[in-house]
Amino acid sequence: MSLNRHIVCLLILEVTFASGLLYVCLTSYPIVNHKIWKHKQALFNLAVKEENVSPKELRRETGQSCVFPVHSPSLVPCQQNNLSEKRRILKKSLPWLELEATLNASKTLLPGGYHQPLGCASPQRLAIIIPYRDREVNLKILLNNLHRVLQKQQAEYAIFVVEQENGTPFNRGLIKNIGYVEAKARCHFDCFTFQDVDLVPESERNTYWCGARALHHSRELDILKYRIFYKYHFGGVITLNETFFSTINGYSNLFFMWGGEDDDLFHRLLKKKLPYEFSRYPRYTAMTHKNDPHHTKEEMAVYGKSHLRYETDGLNSTGRLYRLISVDYKPLYTRIYVSVNQTEVLTQLKHYGINL
Ligand code: UDP
Ligand code: MN
Repeated sequence: MSLNRHIVCLLILEVTFASGLLYVCLTSYPIVNHKIWKHKQALFNLAVKEENVSPKELRRETGQSCVFPVHSPSLVPCQQNNLSEKRRILKKSLPWLELEATLNASKTLLPGGYHQPLGCASPQRLAIIIPYRDREVNLKILLNNLHRVLQKQQAEYAIFVVEQENGTPFNRGLIKNIGYVEAKARCHFDCFTFQDVDLVPESERNTYWCGARALHHSRELDILKYRIFYKYHFGGVITLNETFFSTINGYSNLFFMWGGEDDDLFHRLLKKKLPYEFSRYPRYTAMTHKNDPHHTKEEMAVYGKSHLRYETDGLNSTGRLYRLISVDYKPLYTRIYVSVNQTEVLTQLKHYGINL
């Protein structure tokens, strides 16, 4: 090979190598870039979502008529009251009439357990949803404490007690979804709290309203010596906005009896990359009650995977699973009384290959 030919060959080789390299770079660039872009997009989405739910801007008047007598809110935003870190818990179970009289002494509570602060505007309208059956003493004590705390916080709110008729095993996730659906049908709410009937907040600073993240309130219970139950516990009392709850399709409807639906909800939040946080004033007093039967290990294993079905098992399938028996606007709360269609729940479970 002559020198010239050698140089030409080398040149050709170099050009081939360089263009090969260029080709590799060019083709892999979109891949690498796409990955970075996706990651950035995820962060961006999160940021956008957080921005969207700034607590002060969350309130959205929708023009929907409301069964509660909402007066046009004042233009003056409510000033934060002096909230005490540790409040005195009222543990006495009063007769209903007495309880209604003491709680409504200032006449600010309206039928259905609706309250709007007078003379100032609350930044959000909040629906408190309490899943309920056969815990009357707990309910009275909770209402006696919760109304006081919420009013001290200048919240605009309505309390919905969603009661499941006897005869079918208690289904907390479904009952909470029903509470959300039925509350929304009656008024526009910006924010939703799901509150167990037996947990009483110990601090007025434990604010019941929506921030930029889904909020777990009840992290520390007196009966557990205020130790955290487990790190990602998301049961008991939680607050989240309408967008978050509909994005995750609410709770699963398919958990009967005790436990599981709260862990499942937490998985749904993670799946949708929605931000969450823990209350800075997380102490609650837990009242005593009789316990529901727990699931077997096999049932829990089945249920443990239910977040994989979140797209079809949730708010969008709640409607078929219950019948509204009655709605009663009581002095301290709105009672939503429902019967659960257990046969249909079991049919849905079967549809997912689960025979319980
Ligand atoms: N619940 C109810 N009646 C029942 C079972 C459950 O009202 O028969 C509701 C109630 O709001 C209660 C919540 O579901 O606080 C959680 O159930 P439970 O108190 O039995 O569970 P745990 O105390 O073990 O979390
Ligand atoms: Mn309990």
